[in-house]
Amino acid sequence: MQVRFWGTRGSIPKPGPQTVRYGGNTPCVEVRTGSGVLIVLDCGSGAHALGHALLAEPNAPRHGHVLITHTHWDHIQGLPFLGPLFDARFEWDIYGPRGFGPSIRETLAGQMQYSYSPITAGQFAAKVRYHDLLEGSFEIGDVRIRTYYLNHPGLVLGYRIEADGATLVYATDHEPHSPALARGDQPPLSADERQYAAFVEAADLLIHDAQFTVEDYDRYIGWGHSPVEFAVDLATSGRVRQLALFHHGPMRDDDSVDALVELARQRMNGSGVDVFGAAEGMQIELHGAPVVRAPARVAANVEARPLSVPTDRVVLLATDPQPARSLAAAVQADGGRSLDAADADALLRLAARHKPSVVAVQRQFAGHDALELCRTLRETVGQDLTDPAIIVVASREQEIDIAAGVHAGVTDWLLWPFKETYARARMQLWALRGACGWSPLPLPSGETRR
Ligand SMILES: [Zn+2]
Ligand SMILES: [Zn+2]
Repeated sequence: MQVRFWGTRGSIPKPGPQTVRYGGNTPCVEVRTGSGVLIVLDCGSGAHALGHALLAEPNAPRHGHVLITHTHWDHIQGLPFLGPLFDARFEWDIYGPRGFGPSIRETLAGQMQYSYSPITAGQFAAKVRYHDLLEGSFEIGDVRIRTYYLNHPGLVLGYRIEADGATLVYATDHEPHSPALARGDQPPLSADERQYAAFVEAADLLIHDAQFTVEDYDRYIGWGHSPVEFAVDLATSGRVRQLALFHHGPMRDDDSVDALVELARQRMNGSGVDVFGAAEGMQIELHGAPVVRAPARVAANVEARPLSVPTDRVVLLATDPQPARSLAAAVQADGGRSLDAADADALLRLAARHKPSVVAVQRQFAGHDALELCRTLRETVGQDLTDPAIIVVASREQEIDIAAGVHAGVTDWLLWPFKETYARARMQLWALRGACGWSPLPLPSGETRR
């Protein structure tokens, strides 16, 4: 599997003399497999040069697959400049996450409306197909792809790509789920954190968000990015072979990225992981375990689950007024309904009557402990951790007992204060996981639920 970086910068293109070594273009990574499958990870401004290279290459694949992590501008702004989209000899499949809002096709077409762009998506000369993705897995020819929701103020998918016996994980725009993890401690892991660790495990190359350092982090909680220390710890514990630090912040010049890499190497402390800063133009060949290669099937064979978005989505809130206001706004922004419970009895009654997809309960609510309420709620609404998802809202100072929460049937924790954009993304993914049948990993050995 060959990997080439065309854009490594986060947030906004940052060309100039200070960024010549690592590059100023926003995310775009090309992947080619031995059987000739072409995958493009994100379509930031780096896609412009990639497009020209594909057009100039006599035997370039004529069929490409663009996997979009999310539709923040830095990850899609290069799409209208990807030359082969305007060449009838090419064929493209474009994939991206869909929440409760517009389809990936509609969102991408939105940035090419007349007000923003002289050309529209209707002018692509290539044959283009769009695919809305959920968390799950699908195949493109002999390439196996798994998707996983990352933690960001927007619905983001990470991609795990397995081909030629090698594994590449592309996980950018992700913030550790808990501040303790972000600060480099080793707290007990929540269901989501364990799932994330499994998602990156044993990758031959992990391309990971490393926009901040632990020192910066407190100023940027909720921005949806990782300190480099977290990326290092994740790679080390997951026995990753190579770690590419990615999504360099727009304020980070080349020397500053060098310093990040040095910090990462020191933290690796001889763990054997090869860490480097992703740089524009860098090419990497991944060799996994030798495999008997399946015959080449370059045509897409998409098996992503069809998206069935629940239309009458109810979120039940048993929280303090401030987080309740923020959560209600987040739910309504995506077309859902929120209901407020006044006390524990109302919570149980409303849960039984309305079958909510998410229930958010304050750590201490109306004289009750959330875990105790969660145990009682599970008797009524069932034991499936995603249907409904039960979320405990706690302040950053309150004790968070992950293991006790799992035993009580808690799906996840949400720390107050949070930004509404962040709550909106979390609300979407909890409801989507319920709709697509997500099942969390079992607890580490020795621990059982209930
Ligand atoms: Zn980004
Ligand atoms: Zn983003």
